[in-house]
Amino acid sequence: MTDADLAEMRTQAERLGFNLSESLLEEILETATAGDSEATETATPSAEGVGHRADDDENALLAVFDEPRVRTDSGPLAGTTLAVKDNIAVADLEMTCGSRAYSVVPSETAPSVDRLLEAGIGLVGKANMEPFAMGPTGEFSDFGHVTNPVDPDIVAGGSSSGSAAAVAAGTVDVALGTDTGGSVRIPAACCGIVGVKPSHRLVPRNGFVDFAPSLDTIGPLARDVPTATRAIAAMAGPDPRDPTSADRSLEFETLDDLDDADGLTVGIPETPFERSSDEVADAVRTVTDRLSTLGIETVPVELDLGDTEAAYLNIGAAEFSWLVSGNGVTRGQGTGYDEELRQAFAAAREDGLGEHVARRILPPAFLDMTSGGATYAAARAEGIEFMTRLKAAFDAVDALVMPTLRVRPPAVETVTTRADLIPVLGNTAPFNIAGTPAVTVPVTSLDGLPVSAQAVAPQFEDGLALRVAHALERVAD
Ligand code: GLN
Repeated sequence: MTDADLAEMRTQAERLGFNLSESLLEEILETATAGDSEATETATPSAEGVGHRADDDENALLAVFDEPRVRTDSGPLAGTTLAVKDNIAVADLEMTCGSRAYSVVPSETAPSVDRLLEAGIGLVGKANMEPFAMGPTGEFSDFGHVTNPVDPDIVAGGSSSGSAAAVAAGTVDVALGTDTGGSVRIPAACCGIVGVKPSHRLVPRNGFVDFAPSLDTIGPLARDVPTATRAIAAMAGPDPRDPTSADRSLEFETLDDLDDADGLTVGIPETPFERSSDEVADAVRTVTDRLSTLGIETVPVELDLGDTEAAYLNIGAAEFSWLVSGNGVTRGQGTGYDEELRQAFAAAREDGLGEHVARRILPPAFLDMTSGGATYAAARAEGIEFMTRLKAAFDAVDALVMPTLRVRPPAVETVTTRADLIPVLGNTAPFNIAGTPAVTVPVTSLDGLPVSAQAVAPQFEDGLALRVAHALERVAD
C-alpha cells in the first residue's frame, strides 16, 4: 500500500461523499488490492415513518398505514395483502432505503405498486431492507436486524429481508422486493418462500431507488407460485415514467396455463451444481428427478458460470458509485428518477451513506476509477461471454433448474467477507447480468432448513420460468 494509493482512495471516498477515518480508509484499500471485502456494521433500530412504525416480531415492517389501503375489492389479487420494500415509493409513507441517511415521503406511488392496487391488493406498508439494497443477510438495516421466522439463528437473507420475513411469517400475502444480484431470491430461499426476479425491464422501475440500473429488477415474494404469478401479471408492461420498460406482458391467458408443463425440456446445468455443496446439490437433484412425473424431460446441460460472481460485484458497485457521484442522476439504463427521490438521494450522499455501503462500494469503485474503467469493461465482457454460453444452453432446453443458494441458509453473523458472499449470490447474480427471469421455490429441507431451486428461462419468457417453478412446487417435498 503506497501513500499515493491511500491519497487516491481518500479522493475517491470524498468524491462519493464518504467521510471515513484514516484507519478505515487503509482497511478498505487493503481489501481493494487484496480482492477481499469485509461487510460488518452494527445496526441500531430507530426512526418513525408517516402512518406509524410497525411493531412485528420479525422487525420486517417499517412505516405502515393505520388500516391497509384498498383501492378496489375486485381483481385477481382481491383479498390479499402487500408490503413494499422500502426502496420503492408509496405516497404518504416515509421511504428510507434501510438507511438513516435517506428519508423522503414520496408524493407519488411507484407504477409497480399502483398496478397491484388496481388488481385489488390491500397495501399494508413498507418492508425493512439492507441499506441501499446491499447485503445478502438482512443483518445491517439501520432499523435493526430482520429475524427469519423459520429459525432465528439463521439469517433472513437480503437485501429484501423484511419482504421475505413478512411473507414467511404470514403477516402479508405478497411483498415486493428488488433484485440486482439476488435480493429477492436469496431472502425467499432463506425464509422458504417463492421469489420472482422478472426479466430485466419487464416490470417498470420508476419510483424505485436504483442500485445498478443495468441489473435492477422489481419482483414479488409470495408463499406460492400462483400468487406470485398474479402479481407479475398485474405489474408487467411498459410505463411512460420508466423509459427503459419493455413493451412486453406475461403471455398467460389464464392462470390454468401455469399447469401446462407436459413436454418441456429442463436442463440441469453443470457449474451451478458443481459449485454448490454436495448436500444442497443432491437435495435439489432428488426433486428435479421427479419432474418426469409431470411429463418434463430433464437433461444435463453444459453451462459454465465463469467468473460472473466477481463480474456482478464489480458492475453493481461501479454503477452505484456513478449514481452517487452523479447525486442520484441515472444514465444509461437508469429509470428516470422523480426529482423528489433524486433530491433525497443527493441529501443522503451529503450526509454520508454509511460504513456498510462504503465497505461494499469503495474497493470496486477505486479499482474502476484507477483503471480508467478497465475493471468495469472486463466485468461486462465476462457477462457477455456468459450470455453467449447461456444462449447456447437454451438452444438445447426450454429452461434451467439449479440450486438457488449454493449452501444451506447461513447462520447469523457468519457472512462477513467477500468470499462468504459468493456461495449466497453465486447462482443468482449471473441471471441479473443476463437479464433473464429466475424464480426460486422451496423444494425440500435439510435439518429443518429450507432448500430452494431456481427456474431460469430466456429473457421475456417469464411465463415459462413460472410454469417450471410451479412444476417444482408440485413435486416438492
Ligand atoms: N444480496 C446481494 C448483494 O448484496 C444482492 C443485492 C441485490 O440484489 N440488491 O449484492
